[in-house]
Amino acid sequence: MCGIVGIYSNKDIAKELYYSLYSIQHRGQESCGIAISNGDNINYKKDMGLVGDVFKESELANLKGSIGIGHVRYSTAGGSHLANCQPLVGRCRKRELALAHNGNLVNANYLRDMLEEDGYMFQANSDTEVILYILARYYKGDIVESIKITMDYIKGAYSLVIMGEDELVAVRDPHGFRPLVLGKKGDEYIFASENCAIDILGGEVIRDVEPGEIIVAKDGKLKSYFYSENYKPVKRSCIFEHIYFARNDATIDNVNAYDFRVKCGEVLAKDEDIKADIVVPVPDSGWAGAVGYSNESKLPLSEGLVKNRYVGRTFIKPTQEEREIGVKIKLNPLSNVVKGKSIVLVDDSVVRGTTSKLIVKSLRDAGASEIHLRITSPPVQYSCYYGIDTPHRSNLIASGNDVEYIREYIGCDSLKFLDIDLMVEATENKATFCKACFDGDYPVKKLDREELLSC
Ligand code: AMP
Repeated sequence: MCGIVGIYSNKDIAKELYYSLYSIQHRGQESCGIAISNGDNINYKKDMGLVGDVFKESELANLKGSIGIGHVRYSTAGGSHLANCQPLVGRCRKRELALAHNGNLVNANYLRDMLEEDGYMFQANSDTEVILYILARYYKGDIVESIKITMDYIKGAYSLVIMGEDELVAVRDPHGFRPLVLGKKGDEYIFASENCAIDILGGEVIRDVEPGEIIVAKDGKLKSYFYSENYKPVKRSCIFEHIYFARNDATIDNVNAYDFRVKCGEVLAKDEDIKADIVVPVPDSGWAGAVGYSNESKLPLSEGLVKNRYVGRTFIKPTQEEREIGVKIKLNPLSNVVKGKSIVLVDDSVVRGTTSKLIVKSLRDAGASEIHLRITSPPVQYSCYYGIDTPHRSNLIASGNDVEYIREYIGCDSLKFLDIDLMVEATENKATFCKACFDGDYPVKKLDREELLSC
């Protein structure tokens, strides 16, 4: 998963890009980068690490220019190393192009083979480089035409910001898997993965970029195109963005993450008859759901787990061992709150089950008498091909195991997940979603080379 930002302005924008990237740091913490055009050239700085660590004030001052893009990365395709940091910047036909990508292609390997057979030499192993090379291959002077051709080739999830020396382009794949919003501040146009990147600049959100849409900011104006005339939008916005990934203040495809999360907690509490004392959220991802559960059940909401604010997302650690120690460092029970209490523990999702198991154990060690785990989403049974880093199916606790098995593994007294249809209802049907991680219904199939060749 990653976060992207693009700003088109008529004044220096390095600081604005920096602040907006800072606001979407939760979308990727491995590396970050900014590329800025001064009208003639594109200059950039990218490195491994967090936004606040990578960019020094003096370096930002050197990045002069009024059009720019930025990226924060959590690797889901291609390793976590410098060569895969974005934005990617390249030269073709006497001009420079920079590109930043959020999402995962499902046919990147096939396209890479195809390009390698044509003599292309890759510097890294991310799917994003494939996009840049196809774009360059078909660029004959009209960026929109080359993007349309590229969109015919690339399959899967991609929200992109692409920059030439004098233009900024935002692209969302035909299913709109990953979010991309358009905002405005005075004469300035801003594209970002989440609205917080626009809000913090004092800008105003205009709308989501539509699935299959290409928006070009050039000569002070915006122009919108669709990738194909025959194309009919088939929006499949990722429901997991709303469940977990996006910030509580995100509104994506008309669904506000906080409202949705609260609603899911309320729905989960309906018809429940648990004799519990308190509702405890797993910070931070379980807070909104716990508010909803508490509203509906009338059980008091208590802070039973203290979070170390200086630790990033637990999940965002490459190995199982690191994830386990990560949970311990991150969350500590408040024993004076939980001791002797029957607790409804609320979290947003169970993936491997590691986090919940460790939290339940620590609450028991702190003296909780009963722990009833409530998850504000259905069991994750299938891997995501579109950029949410769910592990292989064999590592998903809910794949092939029923709720009773999961309850026993986690060690809680009772366990309940949100029903998939009720979850969709909680969005008030404001959009149509990809929920493949729950039901295995993949809007774009992951094809192997033979299947692709026969298409
Ligand atoms: P686990 O069940 O131990 O794999 O971890 C699940 C927890 O990690 C949930 O409580 C979520 O808050 C968080 N989480 C779930 N899915 C993801 C994901 N794809 N990327 C990062 N964190 C996630």
